[in-house]
Amino acid sequence: MITVHDKIFIPFISRAEIQQRVHELGEMINADYDGKKPLVLGILNGSFIFAADLFRELTIEAEISFIKLASYKGTSTTGHVVTAIGLEEDLHGRHIIIVEDIIDTGKTLSSFLPEIHHRQPASVKIATFLTKPDALQYDVMADYTAFQIENKFVVGYGLDYDGIGRNLPDLYILKD
Ligand code: 5GP
Ligand code: MG
Repeated sequence: MITVHDKIFIPFISRAEIQQRVHELGEMINADYDGKKPLVLGILNGSFIFAADLFRELTIEAEISFIKLASYKGTSTTGHVVTAIGLEEDLHGRHIIIVEDIIDTGKTLSSFLPEIHHRQPASVKIATFLTKPDALQYDVMADYTAFQIENKFVVGYGLDYDGIGRNLPDLYILKD
C-alpha cells in the first residue's frame, strides 16, 4: 500500500505487465504503420511515460511530438473547447497517432479531435494507456488500448493525484 496526499492506493498493474502490454501495442503499430512514417502526438502531462515507452517499441520510421491541452468555455454554440498548445507540426497528409494516458469520460479527446481533423491529416488513430468503459460519456474510441480498467481512480506510470505519483513505475488504484 502507498499513501499519496490523503488517500491510500494499492498495487494494481505491475511494471512487468505494463511493459509486456506496451510491447504488444508497439508491435501492432509497427505492423499497421510500416512505410507511413507516423507522427506520434503525446498529450502532456499524463502520457509522457507511456508515450516514451511506446515510442521505443517502434522499429519503423516515426516522429514524436508533444502538446498540452488548454480547456476553456466557448460560446453557447461552440460549448466546451479544448485547444492544443505547442502544436507546430504540419499535420496535413500525415498519419497521426494521438497518445493519451487515460480516456475517462472521453470529454477531453472528443473536444480536441476536431482541431486535429481540421488540419487535414491523412489519418488519425488514438493510443491510450487506460480506458474506463463504465465512465465513457462521449463518442471516442481508442484504436490501441493497453488496459481497460474499472471506474476507479488510479495513479502511477505518468498519472498523478494532485501532482504526485507520476514517477511510480507500477499502477496503483484507490483503496475502497
Ligand atoms: P476525460 O476527458 O476522458 O474525462 O478525462 C481524461 C483526463 O482525466 C485524463 O487525461 C486524466 O488527466 C484525468 N483522469 C481521469 N481518470 C483518472 C484517473 O483514474 N487517474 C488520474 N490520475 N487521472 C485521471
Ligand atoms: Mg491527461
